[in-house]
Amino acid sequence: MNDDNSRELYDRALSVMPGGVNSAVRAAIEPYPFFVQKGDGGHVIDADGNRYVDWVMGLGPLLLGHDLPDPVQAGIQQRASEGPMYGAPTEIEVDLAEFVVRHVPSVEKIRFVNSGTEATTSAVRLARGYTGRNKIVVNQGGYHGAQESTLVEGDHENPAPSSAGVPQAFAEHTLPVPFNDEEAVREVFEEHGDDIAAVMTEPILGNYGIVHPEEGYHEFLREITDEHGSLLIFDEVITGFRVGGLGCAQSEFGVTPDLTTFGKIVGGGFPVGAIGGRAEIVEQFTPSGDVFQAGTFSGHPVTMAAGLETLKFAAENDVYDHVNELGDRLRRGLTEIVADQAPQYTVTGTDSMFKVIFTRDGPGANSLEEQCPAGCRQDPTCPRYDYCPKNAGDVKNADTDRWRRIFWGQMKEQGVFLSQNQFECQFVSYAHTEEDVEETLEAYKEAL
Ligand SMILES: *Cc1c(COP(=O)(O)O)cnc(C)c1O
Repeated sequence: MNDDNSRELYDRALSVMPGGVNSAVRAAIEPYPFFVQKGDGGHVIDADGNRYVDWVMGLGPLLLGHDLPDPVQAGIQQRASEGPMYGAPTEIEVDLAEFVVRHVPSVEKIRFVNSGTEATTSAVRLARGYTGRNKIVVNQGGYHGAQESTLVEGDHENPAPSSAGVPQAFAEHTLPVPFNDEEAVREVFEEHGDDIAAVMTEPILGNYGIVHPEEGYHEFLREITDEHGSLLIFDEVITGFRVGGLGCAQSEFGVTPDLTTFGKIVGGGFPVGAIGGRAEIVEQFTPSGDVFQAGTFSGHPVTMAAGLETLKFAAENDVYDHVNELGDRLRRGLTEIVADQAPQYTVTGTDSMFKVIFTRDGPGANSLEEQCPAGCRQDPTCPRYDYCPKNAGDVKNADTDRWRRIFWGQMKEQGVFLSQNQFECQFVSYAHTEEDVEETLEAYKEAL
């Protein structure tokens, strides 16, 4: 594969941008990333004309793939041609808000912002303002954007900033616990219950491998937050309008959070975030309440049009059937390949999310029959149960070097674009085909 143009572009980029990129993960590929020239359905074409089946899909936002259906295209173009934005309200913001409120039962009111990071930042401030408390419980390995309150690692006894530039004083109000660990949550509530404003969790860890919740975990979080007068925040920036269709992951798990953060798909491929939830809480945002929240670009008409037309298209067509079917087919195919060639690895994901985590131990290959057929569901009767990742620590222990240094490049050589490291998940779009799935499974067979 020729990559002269990408190398040259990266050389230029290094001179003017830190690490040559505008978001760190894009540079995870060594020695340099390929530059995308354009998208085409379920594929991308790079600056040297190489074509890849694209399972990255913008790292989550592109439910429909790269070729937007006519109504989506038309909605975006009309809005852009009428002047991009005004600093005054527009009908399209109300339309999208009504759509989300209609489809996501826990959301009575919603505030649109411009990124997932902005959504979680505002949700944390809102939870603190509403409860009058300081502390936020998060999951180790959970990702809530590039913000001060959640760039925290360690455990609840020794929380520490996970980035330079975050004061220790901020980290002290964040309590990280392992995902799926009810005991650890009980402990933090025993110790800090009166000062916990919220538990914020991804319904499924989507930025650290893909880790599925154990049966009853979210119900437990709902109960313990209720008991202590804390809020439950679901960060559905990845899972929103992807897992559980238009009802989001909370409808799939049957758990009702107080607040939900959205991003990615709800903007149809344009910069977006949102905070939705119970009216009495969301109304604490300015101007109806006194938790300050504002943004020049918030509710941007082009973004609102892209989001609304994307979700309307999904409501009126077989989008979720298609992406979930192909996701299922991929995960089933991968489960068979892994059982045959790398039985210690774990296939994860649900709906249109998938990943193979390079876990290091596991039972022998002939247990295929009894294991989760299309992605780990934390089934206690599965022979792999003790070996499947339950939290971020388990994913961290996987063979991330082989994934990154050997496997990713072999997939790329075969024309398959996977997310840039072991941790970020991969996505099926409406534009993907059965052929893309077959081709990808063949590539895994070669590369694993
Ligand atoms: C992507 C993501 C974010 C951050 O969203 P940005 O738009 O990148 O700021 C927050 N939470 C989760 C769960 C995400 O997947």
